[in-house]
Amino acid sequence: MPRATADRTSAPPRPSGTPTTKSLPQHARTHNRSLVLQTLFRRGSMSRADLARESGLTRPTVSGIVQELTADGIVVDLGLREDARVGKPATLVGVRADAFHILALDLSSAERFVGAVVDLRGTVVRRTTVDIDGASGEAAVALAERLVDELAASTRQPLLGVGVGTPGIVDHDGVVRTAVHLGWYDLPLAARLSAHAGVPVHVGNDANLAALAVHTYDDARRDDGRRDEPRSLMVVTIENGVGVGLVLGGALVEGDQFSAGEIGHVTVDEDGDVCACGRRGCLEVSLAAPGLHARLLDHDAGSRGAVLHEAGRALGIVLAPVVSVLALDEVVLSGPRDLLDGALLRAAAETVRARTLSAVSTGLTMRYAGDDRDLAALGAASLVLSAELGIS
Ligand SMILES: [Zn+2]
Repeated sequence: MPRATADRTSAPPRPSGTPTTKSLPQHARTHNRSLVLQTLFRRGSMSRADLARESGLTRPTVSGIVQELTADGIVVDLGLREDARVGKPATLVGVRADAFHILALDLSSAERFVGAVVDLRGTVVRRTTVDIDGASGEAAVALAERLVDELAASTRQPLLGVGVGTPGIVDHDGVVRTAVHLGWYDLPLAARLSAHAGVPVHVGNDANLAALAVHTYDDARRDDGRRDEPRSLMVVTIENGVGVGLVLGGALVEGDQFSAGEIGHVTVDEDGDVCACGRRGCLEVSLAAPGLHARLLDHDAGSRGAVLHEAGRALGIVLAPVVSVLALDEVVLSGPRDLLDGALLRAAAETVRARTLSAVSTGLTMRYAGDDRDLAALGAASLVLSAELGIS
């Protein structure tokens, strides 16, 4: 398998805005390189002069870094700018989207592991899946390895690394501390897959990565002039369990013990059914996809809307105080479309509106993740971009 030039092993993912502790010359150089790449990634192609202005670096520094990045094949000369102002026309430089490919794995679905080959711009160039079929523990690790092998065999570009979004609690070393439904406890998933594939592997919680994806790729594509404003958004993933990824003021919030956003076991019905955690009436009991699908089957077509409405209302009750405290701009629901995109989403939004001040709900957009079923995979890819190239 071709190896990327950046060959650090599983470096911890850094939420944007993390302060660096020292500023040695080599750190400054790495920082400047990231800054140049980040500017090109977010703002698109531009001349070296504009790049210096946008990044706040000097012209000679920018030229040196662009030369280095061009030699690495990450940045490419795009020729002369057509609408040149007075004077000598400037040469544009931009990120070469297929300089590297990233393998991205989304392990969040209850039925299948989804894998994708993603380019540096976040375009999915190939997608493949393997059915889980009840596999857990080592058998589930073997499935993830098989998915990596299939994806790696399908691209000839050099690999920047592998990114993995998994349900459960994941630490910065890529150790899955707990993923109940996959039977993983203290599993060093990043180290295992990295030894298997021979490239750096970065692992994160699926909901966190989905939030990172909305932040990274939506932002880079955002064209309303507000892309530099820090956003506060929450992605709620509804699959086997209920997960939350949180980006506040542009930075991913993971919390102590990496367990921020555990809303699945907040009680919504004291007389409700017993939950996997041993208590009664958790949000997860009302909302997790397998249970909800089973309840829909028990109802006729006329009353299914009411089942979905009730689940959405439970979600809204839990979300209302969170949205109020954090002043979120956006809540995105990710999971099976047949469950989420309709009565459930409407009931959740109505409930949040009814239970918060209008000043809170007016600034809030609640939506379904849409056709972007690659959200966690794209987040996994942006984890690799951030760790390997410093683009966040
Ligand atoms: Zn519970």
